[in-house]
Amino acid sequence: MKRVARRRLTPDQYVDGILAGDRTVLARAITVVESDLPSDADIASEVIERCLPHTGRSRRVGITGVPGAGKSTFIEALGIHLADERGERVAVLTIDPSSPVSGGSILGDKTRMEKLATHERAFVRPSASRGHLGGVGRRTREVMLLCEAAGYPHVFIETVGVGQSETTVRSMVDFFLLLMLPGAGDELQGMKRGILEMTDLIAINKADGDNRRRAERARHEYQSALHLFPAAADGWNPQVVTCSALAGDGVREIWDVVMEHRALMESNGWFDRRRSDQALEWMREALLFGLEQEIRRDPAVGRRLASVQQDVLHGRVSPFRAARELLTLFRPPTPG
Ligand code: GDP
Repeated sequence: MKRVARRRLTPDQYVDGILAGDRTVLARAITVVESDLPSDADIASEVIERCLPHTGRSRRVGITGVPGAGKSTFIEALGIHLADERGERVAVLTIDPSSPVSGGSILGDKTRMEKLATHERAFVRPSASRGHLGGVGRRTREVMLLCEAAGYPHVFIETVGVGQSETTVRSMVDFFLLLMLPGAGDELQGMKRGILEMTDLIAINKADGDNRRRAERARHEYQSALHLFPAAADGWNPQVVTCSALAGDGVREIWDVVMEHRALMESNGWFDRRRSDQALEWMREALLFGLEQEIRRDPAVGRRLASVQQDVLHGRVSPFRAARELLTLFRPPTPG
């Protein structure tokens, strides 16, 4: 499909619109941030830079779970609760780790969170990003910052719990929630230990109807599983609860846990500490990304890249040797 670039606004117009909380301008700015066009990169970085002083105050919550666990139902229920009952604004971003090979989308093209998406106090942005996860992470961070500058005190980042995108999301949020299905036995085995380890709260969803007892049993199993992990340095004990996103049961209690976590992290200094660590991590990633861009743009590398890739693909040259060759082309050793 050919993409037609819509007329761009000036950086001033983006920044003014975002700071005024204008959702249309915010959406258009995000398109620029997500764009691959080199001409957009400059606008994007200026807009982000100028929005930065207005960021950092939001609650950043990551939500993961296998497809069908009820993520969008849950986020919609929680979002509506915050927007309607508390009058607070909510932004929802999704990371869809679609396969760059198949081009398929795990989250699917179905319209998700319809009610929340049309709510005047909500902003729901499905990710258009495909391909390299590093790139997706960087862009999601930037989009998150724009949402914060636009005055959203809550930013939810949803990802599918199947790949490595959890780690990316964990590194940009304050609180990480894992939604699970009842019937824990099998899942516990399939679940990567790493995901449990970075979770602040496990919610066994669909604890309704016939599922109640199974959900309760699953809760016990996960609670015992979590006890096996060493105590977290930040002093937080991950909890396991049950909920029904569909019925709305347990949703506000989960939000209470998020608030409780925030209060503890703020009082024991871990909130600032984590945010500073994340800032360093973001810088490191931005540096690597920038460097990779430069290497790719280098004419000497450009002339060789395709054929070196073929050599690696067909096993004629090891990946390490290939990388060394390209690095040498990029920065030839100085004689002497
Ligand atoms: P996602 O893929 O994780 O975003 O899952 P969805 O939110 O799309 O939910 C998948 C299916 O499970 C949908 O048919 C939902 O209606 C259903 N579902 C979600 N939450 C609940 C729940 O709490 N109870 C029940 N019974 N069904 C639910």
